[in-house]
Amino acid sequence: MDKQSTTSKAHCLVLAYPAQGHINPMIQFSKLLEYQGVRITFATTRFYSKNSLKVPPSMALETISDGFDDVGPTQAGSPKTYIDRFWQVGQETFAELLEKLGESKNHVDCVIYDSFFAWALDVTKSFGIVGAAYLTQNMTVNNIYYHVQLGKLRAPLTEHEISLPKLPKLQHEDMPSFFFTYEQDPTLFDFVVSQFSNIDKADWILCNTFYELDKEIIDWFMEIWPKFRTIGPNIPSMFLDKRYEDDEDYGITQFKSDECVEWLDDKPKGSVVYVSFGSIASFGEKQMEEVACCLRECSSYFLWVVRASEENKLPKDFEKISKKGLVVTWCSQLKVLAHEAIGCFVTHGGWNSTLETLCLGVPTIVIPYWSDQSTNAKLMKDVWKIGIKAPVDDNKIVQREALKHCIEEVMKSEKGKEMKNNVLQWKTLAIKATGEGGSSYKNILEFTNSLFQS
Ligand code: UDP
Repeated sequence: MDKQSTTSKAHCLVLAYPAQGHINPMIQFSKLLEYQGVRITFATTRFYSKNSLKVPPSMALETISDGFDDVGPTQAGSPKTYIDRFWQVGQETFAELLEKLGESKNHVDCVIYDSFFAWALDVTKSFGIVGAAYLTQNMTVNNIYYHVQLGKLRAPLTEHEISLPKLPKLQHEDMPSFFFTYEQDPTLFDFVVSQFSNIDKADWILCNTFYELDKEIIDWFMEIWPKFRTIGPNIPSMFLDKRYEDDEDYGITQFKSDECVEWLDDKPKGSVVYVSFGSIASFGEKQMEEVACCLRECSSYFLWVVRASEENKLPKDFEKISKKGLVVTWCSQLKVLAHEAIGCFVTHGGWNSTLETLCLGVPTIVIPYWSDQSTNAKLMKDVWKIGIKAPVDDNKIVQREALKHCIEEVMKSEKGKEMKNNVLQWKTLAIKATGEGGSSYKNILEFTNSLFQS
């Protein structure tokens, strides 16, 4: 299907948090709206757009400021300094942007804002524009933070076991990491919870997941927020139902991808362990050494993404290219996960990586780093039953023997076969949800139709 005419009047401004795991799905969602005839202006921070962002040519790109336009967030010194400054300057420059677009007869009909920016809704409303929150985390995590916002759950946790509506019982180890850093520094905890501070006022609440994955929680949320809709997984069409032939990748990269598909081509089916900890996680040298030694010693091939900033943590004698393994600084993760040589994915459990592995049918071994990743690990292990969580020692390190054991279990055991079967079933459901007539497809149509009617 070709993209519909862009002469349509509906114009969405999509405002994304400047991180790969937020930009990727929001660009992808924007593409789906374009296919329905919506015009897109994509916006993120000046620093991010200057250094890493090229949007697809059909979209306009605009920027706001986080207060660190030239030097970037790392120069802020602390998360608190960054967020305080961003929240102040971000609101001002976002209001200026809406004003500029209005004045240039480029009026915005709807702002789709990353829910990390609760303030964007207030600014949007002050212009009388429709506001749609876009949630980049899964339903269990939404549920947890929402209950904190309601005052029904607190940090630090006092209860042994956490019981929340429609969720399995959660242990401390399953909870987002910010519960445990709260006493040292509440900034990040307050930041993630603030997503829900004014969400009741949003005209739409869109979440990058699909109905079939979390039916009960979604039904529960829809009673509270009638305009809550699932619109995911927002990954390129070529990795779902292949409806849009030109939609082969997210179209943007923060890092330069290395070519590794050729290396995979001559490996037997299901024989390679793919290891990647996403765009942010930064494990210590000891953990990196244990992963490196495990991969060197285990009986499977491996492909390991070690970002340039992390390479100095590899053991000095570790071979980056050998018969058995390949280390790259970045890859097209979707192409890799889609390759039949891949047998399992050792992941940090970021939400995008989780959705991608579900859509491409690859079972997981999760080594969570921070944020919502422990919760995602719990879901993969006990709810969707597509993977295992690697056990840690007293120093919170996954030892090489423990990781080897996990790889054997997923790649070679009967339990591993079950995980593979389960993940293939989720894959089928994800493709169905995004395909014509599927749950997410219908929700996106409903959303775009509302834009055309307003
Ligand atoms: N990714 C990639 N190549 C890599 C590693 C990661 O393209 O070598 C992409 C991956 O497909 C996903 C995103 O980076 O879309 C990572 O998002 P996620 O939420 O999994 O983790 P985060 O980086 O936010 O911790």
